[in-house]
Amino acid sequence: MSAHIENNSLSAKLHHATEVKSAKCYQCGKCSAGCPVSNEMEYPPSVAMRLLQTEDPENDKKLLKSQTIWLCVSCEMCLSRCPMEIDIPKAMDFMRQKSLAEGLSHPKSKNIISFHKAFLDSIKFTGRLHEISLVADYKLRSWHLMQDVNMVPSMMTRGKLPILPEMIKGRKQVAEFFKKTKKS
Ligand code: SF4
Ligand code: SF4
Repeated sequence: MSAHIENNSLSAKLHHATEVKSAKCYQCGKCSAGCPVSNEMEYPPSVAMRLLQTEDPENDKKLLKSQTIWLCVSCEMCLSRCPMEIDIPKAMDFMRQKSLAEGLSHPKSKNIISFHKAFLDSIKFTGRLHEISLVADYKLRSWHLMQDVNMVPSMMTRGKLPILPEMIKGRKQVAEFFKKTKKS
């Protein structure tokens, strides 16, 4: 990890926190061609890399306010196709955290953000995903209280929704990860 941030741009902060270097992108477009959701994005992955490269505060803001960063499903198709091995999913994740921290998240991404927060909370407290907590947390955040409730009995019968969470041994280390990401 770099010792200091070269400048105040989003690209520099991304590099500092994750070692992902947008400057390595030479715009071949392979990532966007393979991305399953690029058609829905305002800025497909290659365009997002280009915006980062400009180090223009306006472009940084465009990215943090975009739906693009919330539509990314972290499938890693872009990473597997990139000749420069640029970890775009990691970059998207970093931008999601920045967008939340700076209160810039896109209003249309509200439900995705509710799910994102509920998912992370579940990992933060137990060290692994606990489905019932995730569902309850998501429903309270999104107010989609009755969505899919008819599936609950059959999932419980099949043991897919354990009542109690399984706690992992390394919860302290997981808590440390969360602390570190908050600082970056
Ligand atoms: S990780 Fe995100 S940006 Fe990359 S291909 Fe998948 S959805 Fe698209
Ligand atoms: S595949 Fe890699 S080098 Fe090509 S446009 Fe995408 S990020 Fe840039």
